[in-house]
Amino acid sequence: MQPVPAKRDRDAAFFGFTRSICPSCKKVLDAHIVLRGGQVFLQKKCPSHGPFEVLISSDADYYLRSLTYTKPGTYPLAFETAVEHGCPSDCGLCEDHLQHTCSPIFEINDKCDLTCPVCIVRNQQGYSISMDHFRQGVDKLMAKEGELPTLILSGGEPTLHPQFFDFIDYCLRGPHAGHIKRVLISTHGKKLARDPRFAEKFKASGAYASLQFDTLKPGVYPKLRGVELIDQKMKAIEVIRELDIPTVLVPTISKGDNSDELGDLINFGVELPQCSSIVIQPMAHTGDGGDGFHATPTGHRLTMPEVHELIERGTGWLKKEHFHPVPCSHPSCYTATYLFRMNDGRYLPLPEFVDVRQYLDAMVNQTIIRTDDKLERMILDSITSLWSATKIGEDNQVILDSLKGFLSDTFNSRNPLTVAEIERRTETRAKAIFIHAFMDPWDLDVARLKKCCTHYVMPDGRLMPGCSYNNLYRHKDPRFFPRAEPVSPEPVRLDDGHRRLPVIS
Ligand code: SF4
Ligand code: SF4
Ligand code: SF4
Repeated sequence: MQPVPAKRDRDAAFFGFTRSICPSCKKVLDAHIVLRGGQVFLQKKCPSHGPFEVLISSDADYYLRSLTYTKPGTYPLAFETAVEHGCPSDCGLCEDHLQHTCSPIFEINDKCDLTCPVCIVRNQQGYSISMDHFRQGVDKLMAKEGELPTLILSGGEPTLHPQFFDFIDYCLRGPHAGHIKRVLISTHGKKLARDPRFAEKFKASGAYASLQFDTLKPGVYPKLRGVELIDQKMKAIEVIRELDIPTVLVPTISKGDNSDELGDLINFGVELPQCSSIVIQPMAHTGDGGDGFHATPTGHRLTMPEVHELIERGTGWLKKEHFHPVPCSHPSCYTATYLFRMNDGRYLPLPEFVDVRQYLDAMVNQTIIRTDDKLERMILDSITSLWSATKIGEDNQVILDSLKGFLSDTFNSRNPLTVAEIERRTETRAKAIFIHAFMDPWDLDVARLKKCCTHYVMPDGRLMPGCSYNNLYRHKDPRFFPRAEPVSPEPVRLDDGHRRLPVIS
């Protein structure tokens, strides 16, 4: 065997070892995380396709600091697959996975009337789930989770499924009523905009709209979504306002295409009373259109600190320091901030006036902040600290009055509210801004996959970590690609399908 000539990046400081995949052939590869020039890169080398390097953080200090924002995962009640081949070939969830499902996504079809250049799925226009498979998938998910704050129905375009409303009914009024708190519909919004009867039914169903919403200007949708959609999106917003449909706005952000609009999009969501949260998704180069969107993803990747910077520049009132990694997933996957509405109508970021450690504890990957005694304690403590400030400015007085008002309305021991009512009151008072950075074959990092909390629900009971499924499994999923070769190596299913982790004493 010939020795391989040594060729090293002498300016890069080795920081960590992980695994990734080749963007060309998807082979699982060893990878290094290195620091260079104040930035962080992922490096890997495929024996067939050569070396790859991708920027994963534009700010090394932020990256290192973010790694301290993590807490132990919570295991699901049961796993589905055994550890046989090693991550990411055993999904899932295999017994090595470190987090349960906070944010499940159930794809009910792969039919869509758009062909978005940024689409991260691979619509084949042939699959619509049956009611039996839907029930089976939800029942198996609930057996693993017990309670779900949110379930996202997606596709394709889920509103095109003929049994769309039956699925929502099954979740909210069927055997899991009360245990599935919210159903979010991931939609482009065309039916809401065009079909008043559909919109009325949507409102009556109790579901939330999770509306793809990338821009406020004409000219951007043709680049990102293939056609101009601005009028339809604004019409959908009008309907959402009129019918008071609870909504999550979901902008996909692509560097140089709509990244200059982050501030305006956030301001828009903050001013829209029906908007409970904004979920910003920096472009990931995977899926139907995504893997061909911009030939050089390296130059177009927006990393977490760049998004924070753009938000600060765009809003002027939100600061990068207001965003913290959501501690339940890997710190590079999600960051978030919560906003609290004052009595004078302004929204202020919670980290401005609460203890950050308590705040991090209250952060979960949900559409609203957690509404248990931890929220009450955090608010009480911030009232105490505002009271004890030597000088109470005008702003502090407004904050104090607002927090006291919220507490006495929501956590009144003489007149205790139901959990659902506490959630409702909190939701009308707080908004969340999340940044969710999906990975593609370029920046895929197995360390992030292992702590993934956003899982695709399979009708057969498997739960597939989002980026693992999108990059390694989706194109071989027999629901969408019946003639595809099975994923190799195939994950080994647990005998009973419901085994728990052994207790290590
Ligand atoms: S991503 Fe999670 S479920 Fe998939 S193989 Fe890795 S540890 Fe297992
Ligand atoms: S991103 Fe959504 S709306 Fe666009 S093609 Fe994909 S599934 Fe359809
Ligand atoms: S879907 Fe991807 S980015 Fe999101 S939590 Fe999972 S691994 Fe992280």
